[in-house]
Amino acid sequence: MSTPPPIKVTRSKRRTRTITARRLPDGVIEILAPVDVSDKDLAPVIERLTQRLRKRMEHARLSDDGLEKRARELNRKYFDGRLRWNSIVYVTNQQHRAGSCTPSQGTIRISDRMATLPAWVRDYVIVHELAHLEQPNHSRAFWDLVNHYPLTERARGYLMALHLEPDTAGDPSGEEPGRQ
Ligand SMILES: [Zn+2]
Repeated sequence: MSTPPPIKVTRSKRRTRTITARRLPDGVIEILAPVDVSDKDLAPVIERLTQRLRKRMEHARLSDDGLEKRARELNRKYFDGRLRWNSIVYVTNQQHRAGSCTPSQGTIRISDRMATLPAWVRDYVIVHELAHLEQPNHSRAFWDLVNHYPLTERARGYLMALHLEPDTAGDPSGEEPGRQ
């Protein structure tokens, strides 16, 4: 049901026995392994380490409660506190999309990769998805709302550099560049 995070295996001659995993800043999980371990032997270890890392992510500093709290602050700051939603939660199955919103249900999902990114990038993603509660598509009116968040353009550049697709929010042509 959920897609595992991207994994990069690095083999090192210097690592004689231990296999370790770490989460890189861009969300990729790097497995450090000795050079002579076969892929077959490595697979179960990767599975176990990945699960452990994900569990740690679930208890990360920014929990779903933190996300809800931050969304309320951003709602007050950039939307005059007028937005209402049912839930905003982290999900582990959106590794290539920063976030998504189902306006009809009032539900927002944020990729757990955002939990490890700078707060100003995460704030942009939250503002973006919040704006969809009022504007389902990436229309001019949508970007007018989102651009109240002053770091919008910088944050979009940051996400593009990580190849994180913005959501397509129902418009088949994908996301148009925002106009200031
Ligand atoms: Zn969008």
